[in-house]
Amino acid sequence: MMLSKDIATISRTLEIIQKHGFHFKKGFGQNFLVDLNILNKIVDHAEITKNTYVIEIGPGIGSLTEQLAKKAKKVVCYEIDKTLIPILEETLKDYNNIKIINEDVLKADIKELINTEFCDASDIALVANLPYYITTPILMNLLEQKLPIKRYCVMIQKEVAQRLSGTPGTKDYNALSVAIQYYTEPKIVLNVPRTVFIPQPNVDSAVLKLKVRTTPLVEVKDEKLFFHVVKGSFIQRRKTILNNLKQTFTNISSELLLEALQQANLNPQTRGETLSIHDFARLSNIIANLVHL
Ligand code: SAM
Repeated sequence: MMLSKDIATISRTLEIIQKHGFHFKKGFGQNFLVDLNILNKIVDHAEITKNTYVIEIGPGIGSLTEQLAKKAKKVVCYEIDKTLIPILEETLKDYNNIKIINEDVLKADIKELINTEFCDASDIALVANLPYYITTPILMNLLEQKLPIKRYCVMIQKEVAQRLSGTPGTKDYNALSVAIQYYTEPKIVLNVPRTVFIPQPNVDSAVLKLKVRTTPLVEVKDEKLFFHVVKGSFIQRRKTILNNLKQTFTNISSELLLEALQQANLNPQTRGETLSIHDFARLSNIIANLVHL
């Protein structure tokens, strides 16, 4: 079959937009990639093979979808903007392994999708040029569900990628970095300048690869409490861990919190940003004992 020209060029993208009278919606974070070289790198980092089932969020006019469909077994995309659906039907008509769902990914039942569409899958990957205004809720929502997705390869705002992959003692390290590390091995695999998008965003981007761990990095007695301790420790970065925990656990006395920190071998005057995920796990397991007394 004669395949059409690649979508991810400036001329073809402008041609598609003009033909369909498409108007960009800023509120949906619509910045379309027009660089085939970068798209190919994303697909390579995502390790897509003929056995891979891919979930894509926000196909736009289909530039990444097309490159994924060439390599993957099947690609299922969620696109919130209904005006893009007829465009995608046309731009991707040469591929029979793509399914487009017109839905807000934050409301979608991905578990159900995997059970129905990917029931015989041994390799599932999520690949996306994510809408920047909801990067973190999308990633956290999916990771918390512990879906059988083996890896995520996502383009996001550069600063957010740095925060999500931040390490202790650095300015980028925060509660989200700990959460991401808990579920995955994060790595920034590519920096992407703002100039390769139409329209150009105000920020640079990076591709973050998250290799999902088969079991979380640390063993915790109570996952909810663990994340509560982590979030609480970063409430005010300049405050000591003891003061932040006092503010978070108003139901536990200061003496007991101090004792928990000492038992965990942590200096109460230190700041949350210096603690490793292992420190947080140890501390939360001790606090779990206190709470459940
Ligand atoms: N994949 C295309 C590309 O690389 O050129 C477009 C990426 S653009 C940064 C983000 C896309 O996500 C847009 O098509 C936008 O309409 C879509 N989007 C925004 N919010 C969404 C949501 N909640 N659920 C699904 N898609 C969404």
